Amino acid sequence: MQTLPEPVQNLVDALSRLPGIGPKTASRLTFYLLRAPEELSQSLADALIGIKKNTSLCEVCFNITHKQSKICEICASSQRDQHTLCVVEEPLDVLAFEKTGGFNGLYHVLHGVLSPIEGIGPEDLKIKELYDRLKTHQFTEVILATNPSMEGDATAMYLHERLQEFNLRITRLALGLPVGGDLEYADQSTLLRALAGRQNLD
Ligand SMILES: [Zn+2]
Repeated sequence: MQTLPEPVQNLVDALSRLPGIGPKTASRLTFYLLRAPEELSQSLADALIGIKKNTSLCEVCFNITHKQSKICEICASSQRDQHTLCVVEEPLDVLAFEKTGGFNGLYHVLHGVLSPIEGIGPEDLKIKELYDRLKTHQFTEVILATNPSMEGDATAMYLHERLQEFNLRITRLALGLPVGGDLEYADQSTLLRALAGRQNLD
């Protein structure tokens, strides 16, 4: 059986370790890069190194920020509502909220969710940092915006219990049916949530 030259196999192996990329896609990308101009590989390599070298986590909310700044643009902004805190799983969730333009408060990024199966406990997330923040800042509402998954729900429940000591309004995102969706295609838990989160028509 013919084997790939080592440098080629190395890239295939490295790409295969990324989420959503199987061995087939990894091979296809590798051979694409082999044929493409060298500058493509160079800029890809630079970008890959750059994300580690030129970014860090915001010291306040733990969102991704430029290495030069200790706190991110959102935390640094005086235009944001300083009393509402939205707790999310990942930096990408911050981006999703920001894209909607419908939220003007601050964020706290947990960097994951509680998962006993994967051995992820409270100490593995930015939960202590969340307490410290709530102790030292006057928030009036905390929105627990973890994903509507089993782990996301469990994390929200855990936080809800632990945050009782603070005089806060604690909310969870209302979840329901996707706009334009069809009731008959909604899965059971989505439909149950939609029912539980029903609102008065006024
Ligand atoms: Zn921040």
